[in-house]
Amino acid sequence: MEWLLYIVFFLIVLFCIVFFLKKHYEDKAKNLASLKNGICPNCGAKSDKDESVIEYKLLNNGGCSGVSDVLYTCIKCDKSYFAQERISRPSCG
Ligand SMILES: [Zn+2]
Repeated sequence: MEWLLYIVFFLIVLFCIVFFLKKHYEDKAKNLASLKNGICPNCGAKSDKDESVIEYKLLNNGGCSGVSDVLYTCIKCDKSYFAQERISRPSCG
């Protein structure tokens, strides 16, 4: 019956991996939504009408069909968030 133990162990490990990955992506999506609203997920600094606390930097232009690498940086606490986005451009058909 040793094989059953291995299968149970394997399933537990698999469940943990899926759980952590899911949480990781949920946190990432939550952070990104917050950053797009001008709020830092780390220190909670908020942008107002005149001044943005989130700096947006395009690292790598993915072109018309590709995905671009962008970096959001909070100017208050200096924390950076890396994200990959599809940026639509008027010049692309
Ligand atoms: Zn911050």
